Amino acid sequence: MPTLPRRLLDARPSWSGHPLLAAFLVSTLSLWSCSQTPPASIAAPANPGDATASIRFDGLAYRGGVVAVANPNGAEAGAEILRRGGNAVDAAVAIAYALNVVEPQSAGIGGGGFMMIHRAATGDTVIVDSRETAPAAATPDLFVGVPEPSRQGVAVGVPGMVRGTDLALHRYGTRSLARVLEPAIRLAEGGFAATPDFLANTNCNNPNSRALNSPAVAEYFCPGGKAREPGSWVTNPSLAHTLRLIAQHGADCFYRLLPDTGCDIALGIVTGQRFSRELPLAGVPTPGKGGGMTLADLEAYQPVVRAPIEGRYRGYRIQAMPPPSSGGLTVLQILGMLERFPLGDTGAGFGFGAPQTLNVMADAMRLAFADRAVWMGDADFVPVPSRGLLAPAYLAPRAALLQPGVRAPDAVVVAADPRPFEVPGTAPGTRLPVADPVTGPEKGTTHFSVIDPWGNWVSYTNTIEAAYGIGVFAAYQDASGEGRDFGFLLNNELTDFNLAPSINPYTAGPGYNDIAPGKRPRSSMSPLMLFTPDGQPLAAYGSPGGPTIISAVLNVTLNLIDHRMTPQQAIDAPRLSASSTSGYVLLEPAFPQEVLEAMSDLGYNLVPGVVGAVQAVLFDPETGHQYGAADGRREGTVIGLP
Ligand code: GLU
Repeated sequence: MPTLPRRLLDARPSWSGHPLLAAFLVSTLSLWSCSQTPPASIAAPANPGDATASIRFDGLAYRGGVVAVANPNGAEAGAEILRRGGNAVDAAVAIAYALNVVEPQSAGIGGGGFMMIHRAATGDTVIVDSRETAPAAATPDLFVGVPEPSRQGVAVGVPGMVRGTDLALHRYGTRSLARVLEPAIRLAEGGFAATPDFLANTNCNNPNSRALNSPAVAEYFCPGGKAREPGSWVTNPSLAHTLRLIAQHGADCFYRLLPDTGCDIALGIVTGQRFSRELPLAGVPTPGKGGGMTLADLEAYQPVVRAPIEGRYRGYRIQAMPPPSSGGLTVLQILGMLERFPLGDTGAGFGFGAPQTLNVMADAMRLAFADRAVWMGDADFVPVPSRGLLAPAYLAPRAALLQPGVRAPDAVVVAADPRPFEVPGTAPGTRLPVADPVTGPEKGTTHFSVIDPWGNWVSYTNTIEAAYGIGVFAAYQDASGEGRDFGFLLNNELTDFNLAPSINPYTAGPGYNDIAPGKRPRSSMSPLMLFTPDGQPLAAYGSPGGPTIISAVLNVTLNLIDHRMTPQQAIDAPRLSASSTSGYVLLEPAFPQEVLEAMSDLGYNLVPGVVGAVQAVLFDPETGHQYGAADGRREGTVIGLP
């Protein structure tokens, strides 16, 4: 196993002396999708009071609002807005734009995300979905024959962040877009000290570095071909200019070419996504492929306000991300399968990090990922059986496949057919022997969480997909040949679709995550909120990390509820991730050697790695105190106000 990064080692807690969960609520599987009536079989938690009592709050307590962000400058931008009386949504939007400047490799206006908002006044939760869409010209075979699609313009989806944040501010915020853009503009213009994460993936000496994919991006991240020094001063005047245009003229200035007002960002996006680069395909140099996005695609982009998917785990209520993300359904499926095990009980052979605990976690993840590959996609385009996938009667036989002490054989780790549990009376289909669809690797993204003094919450995961997206800035040359650069990276979100046309093995129709015009690629992003059994908000969190997002959020949930860790312990603890049906399991290296050996003996193919980076805010309903917990796997920063 390679050694842990220093920050992770420092953050590693000691596991001795963790209090055990004395008694377990062995409740029936109890999950449902909130947009529907709960099935009659859902049992009330055996003792709702126990569930509330078992979250262990500690650390610095606040009342004036808390932000937890993967970058100190981003956190400060949010805190500034809270200090000036803005609410959680105002602060979250300020953070999102500031991160575009200081953590540009992860997210920004060239991409999109999911902003989960819980409002104190109404007690409801909504998600502003600013996920990118496929342009009108997109076809299911878009990437066939394309070398490394995630580095080509053809991977760029129509960006959603600007209209999404604008909508969020108008409906749920109290400040103007211009006002909350101020910290980001200041950072882009005045500059900031390069942090280790800003430099971590630039790999300036490696010609395959994504940060070197195009000359302008290479020059920004590796000026003169050299890596920047940690702490060196970085500015981005082009981005400052872009943000000023948006502040002055509003979101339309991003989506429409309006020469009279100087709004030409849309031209930069459409021109930038025409980027193509010859790269090897199966060892043979192959021409790249530019994108077919038009100005009309940009103009047509609309964010969508969605209701969360809701479930319960050991009595706690959970609100999670619905399609087009697979995040909420997959997290709730895994929890639903694990609920029959006393995961916190060391006396029963479980407990944190016990091989038996990791064994059932890994297999529950494998089973859920089998369903994910077949049944999850953009529900505005395909009939995702959300209710069936979470139905206790569907999950029970799948949970029965989990046998502590045995690695579930590959032959049983396959998608089943949830449709009879979606629509009673539907006959189950026969599974055709077709290959699983192929999707690309994912690894960009940032998550942050905010609570304000009034008890409004935001849990926001934002992304340009891979680190640096396609590695190209929005830019164009004007008629005189003068270059115009907008200083933000274009996403490669369309590689979250199946990379080639596929077949759903139960419907024999196209794969649910195949590309179609206007469709949103399936995501793993899982902004989540945890509530007491009677609905009082307790925590908001989420993570970056592609499919390991789902695992990171799951691990932290188990740590809080089953292992009774404090929020910071729950985040620091080493994590496990299985994000395919194979026995390939990512384990963070802080697990002891004997645990690794026991898992290996069960037949898992163990790979060391880092699983996500969770930033959380929390609230203790008993005391009225607010808390934050940040992840040292990135530059997690908590700022709280008294
Ligand atoms: N594009 C990915 C998704 O939406 C996230 C990428 C990542 O977290 O690395 O699931």
